[in-house]
Amino acid sequence: MVGWIPPVLKDRAERLQEFSQRLNACHDVGPNDTAFILHYDSGVGDMRPYFWPSDETDQRVKPPALNSLRLTHLFKGPSCYCAWLQGGRYTEAKIGLALRTGGPSGISDACLGQFVAICAEQRCGYFVSLDKFYSHRRLATRKYIKRKEPLRTLNPFHFVTGDTEDSVKRTGLRQVEVLRDDPQGT
Ligand SMILES: [Zn+2]
Repeated sequence: MVGWIPPVLKDRAERLQEFSQRLNACHDVGPNDTAFILHYDSGVGDMRPYFWPSDETDQRVKPPALNSLRLTHLFKGPSCYCAWLQGGRYTEAKIGLALRTGGPSGISDACLGQFVAICAEQRCGYFVSLDKFYSHRRLATRKYIKRKEPLRTLNPFHFVTGDTEDSVKRTGLRQVEVLRDDPQGT
């Protein structure tokens, strides 16, 4: 079932507060609860759990490996609120290491040096502290399907959703994994 999406931007912007509160609340998960990240699901017009990827041995994929997993598996970063605001299908948040605090990114000191997922365009305020979820005892995970052929890129800042060096600077994030145009590489 497709959820109702208000046609007026003002109404959608108002609901953003609720989305944001729910995302913040899921960061405060108790130690005995199952942790999950929320992201925007355009199929239902609402926030839904985003499953952390696990590998063949059911181990969680480490945060620094998430970006390269996007190239080998049908896996994306969470969808930020921009898809909700703009009426789009999926606006992939950028995953990276927080290098700067404050400024347009609004990353707090507590997240400096940690892996985060953040609105790639710095528009909607979507923000997830990935390390916090990764280190939780119980985390909702899923195995993602492997691509037949890995995506190939030589550019370490390549981002499937249209990342540019400028957007990398604006978000204050750096992608740690240097991507290689070598599908046979290890
Ligand atoms: Zn956004």
